[in-house]
Amino acid sequence: MSRRLTWALVVLATVIGTVVPLAPTLYVSWRLALSAQQEQLDAYALRVLDHIDAVYANAESALRTIAATPFPPCSPQQISAMLQITEEALSVVNIGYGAGDVVECNSWGPLTYRLERAQTQVEQPDGIGLSLNWRPTNFGTDRALLILRLHGYSVLVDQRQFFNAWETPNPYTISGVRTRGGLPIYASYRDQDRPAPPEVGDASVEKVSRNWAVTVRQPRITFQDHLQANRAVLLPLSAAIALLSAASGLLVLRQQRSPRGELARALKNGELVAHYQPIIELATGRCIGAEALVRWPRADGSQTPPDMFIPLAEETGLIGRVTDRMLAAVVEDLGDLLRNDPHAHVSINLSAADITTGRILPVLERVLDGSGIQPRQIWLEATERSFIDVDGARTTLLELRRRGHRTAIDDFGTGYSGLNYVQNLPIDLLKIDRSFITAINTEAPTRDVTPYIIAMGHELKLQIIAEGVETENQAEYLRAQGVSFAQGWLYSKALPAAAFIVFWAARRR
Ligand code: C2E
Ligand code: CA
Ligand code: CA
Repeated sequence: MSRRLTWALVVLATVIGTVVPLAPTLYVSWRLALSAQQEQLDAYALRVLDHIDAVYANAESALRTIAATPFPPCSPQQISAMLQITEEALSVVNIGYGAGDVVECNSWGPLTYRLERAQTQVEQPDGIGLSLNWRPTNFGTDRALLILRLHGYSVLVDQRQFFNAWETPNPYTISGVRTRGGLPIYASYRDQDRPAPPEVGDASVEKVSRNWAVTVRQPRITFQDHLQANRAVLLPLSAAIALLSAASGLLVLRQQRSPRGELARALKNGELVAHYQPIIELATGRCIGAEALVRWPRADGSQTPPDMFIPLAEETGLIGRVTDRMLAAVVEDLGDLLRNDPHAHVSINLSAADITTGRILPVLERVLDGSGIQPRQIWLEATERSFIDVDGARTTLLELRRRGHRTAIDDFGTGYSGLNYVQNLPIDLLKIDRSFITAINTEAPTRDVTPYIIAMGHELKLQIIAEGVETENQAEYLRAQGVSFAQGWLYSKALPAAAFIVFWAARRR
């Protein structure tokens, strides 16, 4: 994955991680506010309706009580009964009696002036007649009264009682009280005391009982309060989720951009390639093969030196994949060359892990199987570090040799106990480290060591390869000392496959 694409994905993940939790949050808070509003409104409407029913039931029971008294209408006993009931029944303002169109007496006594009886507007199924919003001009009140009527008796109820369900401040308005038949009753007779018409965005609910219907309204402002309260909880939550997803996106990016991440990506994308440094037979000057050296060309044209990323690969467990990649590259790049010339070989650098665990064995088998390349054409180089687990190393090296591969000890002379290992391990070749070659014919203190190392190789019947040969002078010295092979800038740097094939063709003749 290219870095730009990775960035784009991270940005996308962050945006999605921010928006995706946010949208449901807003929706959920809206739904929660809505259902909270609905619930509260329902509950309030039912309470109001209960109250209205109670007021009415109180008046109705007063009416039935007075209608059932045995006294003659407007007799002193009857009038005192009317007064007593009026005082006892909380809803009742007054009780009157009139068989015809006028009121003859009420709880205060016989009427001394002419008071017209209210016209019955609704006949209830239970026989009670109702007059709504009654306000006689000569009754001494501007309250609107509800009148319940039965057998000439009238019970007067202050209609405001229908509206004063809860005095405590609440966000709701009782926007309508009606009979079941739909006739509205008012809190007061004055028009301006009629409920305000609903506004857009208000929520309202209607509840209906046996005799009454009530509509309760909640202004939008309360809904906004709910919404805000919900968001106050949900928004930080979704912000946290968004932050988390952004952070994980950045973490992925950081991992991708870490050295290990970059190497893993390079391996995945096949960015690592093999270059081939020719190995020369000192006696003849002929090229006998090459060492495969890994190269990591970067997008900006630079190269990351293997000395920088091979240790990283070893530490982070990616080294096995580097080895596999190199093996595959050899088969791809030089398969034809190796098939055409069975004496040609390519040397591959193994890591300590490849050797001690033996994982290289099945890999080699798989890669070479059916490739037409002989095992003896693949040489394997290992440094002394690979031999720390002597038993593991011996098992692997023995098997490699059994199959026909040749094994070389790399950077020989730089480890402290080289001789010990070499004596006890199945090794065919010894690569003298460049530092001992550079020292030849110089004043460097190591210059005296070089002949010993060469002698040791002869003693152990190993073929010797000199690394880092840069001058004809060094080559001459090595040749005189009986060293078999050499590689170094004197002959060639590591070459891309195509260039190496050209070099090979020239140096084979
Ligand atoms: P090495 O195995 O000792 O490889 C030889 C190094 O010496 C190479 O460096 C090569 O380019 C360099 N060299 C060759 N001739 C001359 C010369 O005449 N003069 C000088 N100054 N240098 C010369 P390179 O390619 O940078 O590799 C460095 C090290 O990285 C290698 O040392 C090896 O330890 C490791 N390495 C390279 N490729 C691989 C690989 O595919 N797998 C593993 N495990 N390690 C590798
Ligand atoms: Ca090497
Ligand atoms: Ca070396």
